[in-house]
Amino acid sequence: MTALRYRGRFAPSPTGALHFGSLVAAVGSWLVARHHEGEWLVRVEDIDPPREVPGSAASILSTLDAFGLAPDAPPVYQSQRDALYAQAFERLRDGGHLFPCWCSRAELGAHGGLHRDGRCIAAPDPSRPPAWRLRSPDRVVAWRDDLQGPQAENLRDVAGDFVIRRVEGLWSYQLACVVDDGEQGITHVVRGADLLDSTARQIALQGLLGLPTPGYLHLPLVVDAEGRKLSKSTAALPVDPADPLPALREALAWLGVDGPQPATSPGALLRSALERFAPATLRRSSLTTGTTL
Ligand code: GLU
Repeated sequence: MTALRYRGRFAPSPTGALHFGSLVAAVGSWLVARHHEGEWLVRVEDIDPPREVPGSAASILSTLDAFGLAPDAPPVYQSQRDALYAQAFERLRDGGHLFPCWCSRAELGAHGGLHRDGRCIAAPDPSRPPAWRLRSPDRVVAWRDDLQGPQAENLRDVAGDFVIRRVEGLWSYQLACVVDDGEQGITHVVRGADLLDSTARQIALQGLLGLPTPGYLHLPLVVDAEGRKLSKSTAALPVDPADPLPALREALAWLGVDGPQPATSPGALLRSALERFAPATLRRSSLTTGTTL
């Protein structure tokens, strides 16, 4: 029996230009995939029009290109995959795993912000569309993260009955991500540790949809000198596609890999970093930096 070939991905949301924290996730997922002689794909997660910044998908893709991070297939766009999400939604609904919910934020606030009843707390209001939530199972989801080690989460206690389709009719990140990772045959997910707490929800959804669970590796978040997540700090500046080498060197250093100082192109720097790279050398926890990125 042959093992499935490694297939990884980088899945940016087009909410702005590529910043240093996302570059670290992109380079990290690329390095691990290439180390395993695997494929590396890019998926544009543009399913949230209110949060989307016009032009940022194109800007992220051209910046990845300028940094020598070329995917093995043309990028897919979640905005074009509605039929796949609708199919998964129907499967979950027909299986009795979803319920419509008209609860307001205030009603949820009275329950600690979490919905855990497996049915709507508010009175149904046929005059407006509901959100659809998953009846969260009262069980512990356990998995082993390739970098962060063993993890366990009681889904109902931690995430509650989470949203699958929003009131506006938009698909949730959890649903779209699980459907796409499954449909694209992703065998390993490497991403930032801010998504570690989405993993239990995604594993539960994979089980309900009959999809395989990929391996997971969550990279430590890049934080600033005050310990704030980079994307929330002033250091969340876009990286410069016209001058990729300094930011690429810095991203590699963050990941615990050095490239040769005199490299003249991002491609050469990445190739030499790959020769020195082993997943075991990845940093496990966040460092803080006061440097200007
Ligand atoms: N689109 C998500 C983000 O940009 C990442 C999703 C994922 O890697 O699973 O934060």
